This record gives sequence, C-alpha cells and structure tokens, in this order.
Amino acid sequence: MHPDLEFLVPAYVRGFEPYIPSKPDAELKTLYGVSRLFRLNNNENALGPPPAAREAIRNFPPFRASLYPSGDSYYLSREIAARHGLQPDQIIVGNGANEVIAFAIKAFCEPGDNIVTADRTFAVYEWVATFSGITANLIPLKDNGFDDEAMLRAIDRRTKILFLCNPNNPTGAYWAKDRLIAFLERVGDNRIVVVDEAYCEFVEATDYPDGMKLIADYPNLVIFRTFSKMYGLGGLRIGYLAGASEVVDMIRRTCVVYSVNGLAQEAALAALRDETGHIERTREMVRDSRAYLKEELGKMNLPVIAGEGNFLVVRLPGSDTLAYRRLMGEGVMIRPMTSFRYPNHIRITLALPEAMEAFVGALRKILAGPRRP
Ligand SMILES: *Cc1c(COP(=O)(O)O)cnc(C)c1O
Repeated sequence: MHPDLEFLVPAYVRGFEPYIPSKPDAELKTLYGVSRLFRLNNNENALGPPPAAREAIRNFPPFRASLYPSGDSYYLSREIAARHGLQPDQIIVGNGANEVIAFAIKAFCEPGDNIVTADRTFAVYEWVATFSGITANLIPLKDNGFDDEAMLRAIDRRTKILFLCNPNNPTGAYWAKDRLIAFLERVGDNRIVVVDEAYCEFVEATDYPDGMKLIADYPNLVIFRTFSKMYGLGGLRIGYLAGASEVVDMIRRTCVVYSVNGLAQEAALAALRDETGHIERTREMVRDSRAYLKEELGKMNLPVIAGEGNFLVVRLPGSDTLAYRRLMGEGVMIRPMTSFRYPNHIRITLALPEAMEAFVGALRKILAGPRRP
C-alpha cells in the first residue's frame, strides 16, 4: 500500500518544486553532441584551487577516508577566527555556505515566522525558508541592488532574519560600508541580519565593507563565506558563518555533526594559507574577462548588468531557456535566469579567455541563426 502523503507531508513541502541539478558533463556532451563543454554556469574559479590547497589534497592520506573528521573543523575554525580577530566559538563551518543557510534559518525561525530578502538574489534563502514553512518576503531590487528602505518597511512582528547578499548574485551590486552600517542601526538589535559575502574576495571597490569587522559592534550580524568561489573548492563543499558567540552558540544547536569532511577541511586550511598570489591572479582574470565581454556584448547591442563578483548578466532579445539549449549545442553552458526572476537574461561566469571567446562566438552564432532566441 502507498503511504498517505497528503497526511504525512506538510503542505509547504508538497507545494515546493524540487531543484533539478544539471547532468554530468559526459552525459551532457552526448546529449548535445559536443566534444568540449565550457561550464560557465556556477561561478566556479577557472584557475581552480590555489597551489597550497592542491598540495594538501594530494597529500591527504587515503587511510584517513575511514576516520570521522573533526566535528567542529578544529584547526580551520581556529585559523578563520585568528585571521579576523574572532574567537573559534564565533565560527561554524558547514558543508558549503548552503548548509549554514539552513543552520541559521532552523535556529531562528519556526512556521509562521518570516525572513526578508530580495526577489532577485541567491535563491537558497528563499528555498530553505519556503520548504520549512517560513514565509520568504521578497523585496524587489532597486537599481539592481537590495532596497534598504523597502526591506526596513517589510519588517513585522514575525520577521526573524534579513538576508543581504553583498555583492549580490546575480547583479553584482553591493552596499558600501556606510549604507550597511546605517541599515544595521535602523534594524536594531532584535532581528538577525545575515550578510552573505560569498564573493567578497573578488570585490575591488574600496568602500566595500568587511562584515567580519562589524560583528563586534553588531551582535545580531551573521556573516556567510564560502570556499567554493575564489578558493576553487566548490566540489569539496565547504563554507562557514561567523557571528557573536551567543548567537553562534544558538545556531550551533541546529548543526548535525560531521557534515564537513576531512579532506575539505585540510584543503580549505591550505587555501587560506596559500601565498602564491592566487587571489590576485584570479582577480586579474575576472577583470580582463569582464572588460572583454562588456566590449563584445556592447558590439552586439546586448544590455549587460555587471558589478562586483566573477559573473555578469546579459539581456537577450528572446528566451533564455532556448538560448541555454542552443548554447549547449555549441559546447557552452550558461545559467538561464528565468529561475532568478530575470526572464530573457543569462548569467555567465567570468573565466579564462578561451572560454570567453567560445561563449562570444557561440552567442553570435545563435543570435544570427534562423531561430533567434
Ligand atoms: C555560491 C553561493 C553560495 C553557496 O556556496 P557553497 O558552495 O554552498 O559554499 C552562497 N551564497 C551565494 C551568494 C553564492 O553565490
């Protein structure tokens, strides 16, 4: 007999659309009949992990695969804390920043509560809230950035967390330090403000705030960071949050221990200690690719949304999902933006020249083709 899923499953889970991950490269190459595939859909670092992290991965003793890892990422959380003048108990390392998003929401919200964030931002805040029975109050972006005034107006009795993505994925817009501080002052002490700094290492603007430095003054502030983007460790799944000890102590209650594997911990620690100029090399690549794409897309008269971060958004004359399929046929994988509430837009990771040229060539071809997307 089948279980009665109407009875067993909460309506907010039944009503949630599951995320469909993309297929492995080998499957996609066969499906689209291409011999090479440039993945420009996930904002990965085309230079890979820093040399010190590669070394740590090579040196990981295979036997250690049989041992449980440190349950609190002991050495890594100490290193992160020391680098930011914090105590180790102010850090929680998770299985990617994605996992720490879930930790934070579980710690503060119960069904009936709400979070406030933007309509066109990283979708995981909204997803975790929604399938947990928590309302996601999505405030429209203003000038491609988070709208502070509208977010403040949206706060009600049941608002627990405000999520700000700084700089924003996918628009690259960021809040300067003054603006973030003014916002924290006006929110007051009794709401958690999460600032997701997944792309902070790419930011070149000098007025961009280091959220870690604000924790001492704002104990309701929680910062998210990841090793998936600048540090090129997306495949090992490791990220973290930081905040005031009392707040982090509450969040820690929602963590299931051992979600962060030992290899990821070693690689992340080595990545932080790398001194070969990996961050500078990556920034240079991103800077060059942004300039190149802006110029080429400008020649094609396609509007571009670009700011900080290793990605850029382009508006196409037609469907982004059709463009996705046709670009796949040319061996280029981009992110269609309909799911980010940007119909007819695509997001492209800023990567190496060869990939950028392949993308531009493929885009020219599909836009000139008989069935313009
Ligand atoms: C990629 C990304 C993350 C999640 O990264 P993990 O791979 O789960 O560490 C979090 N926030 C934003 C804005 C991102 O773009």
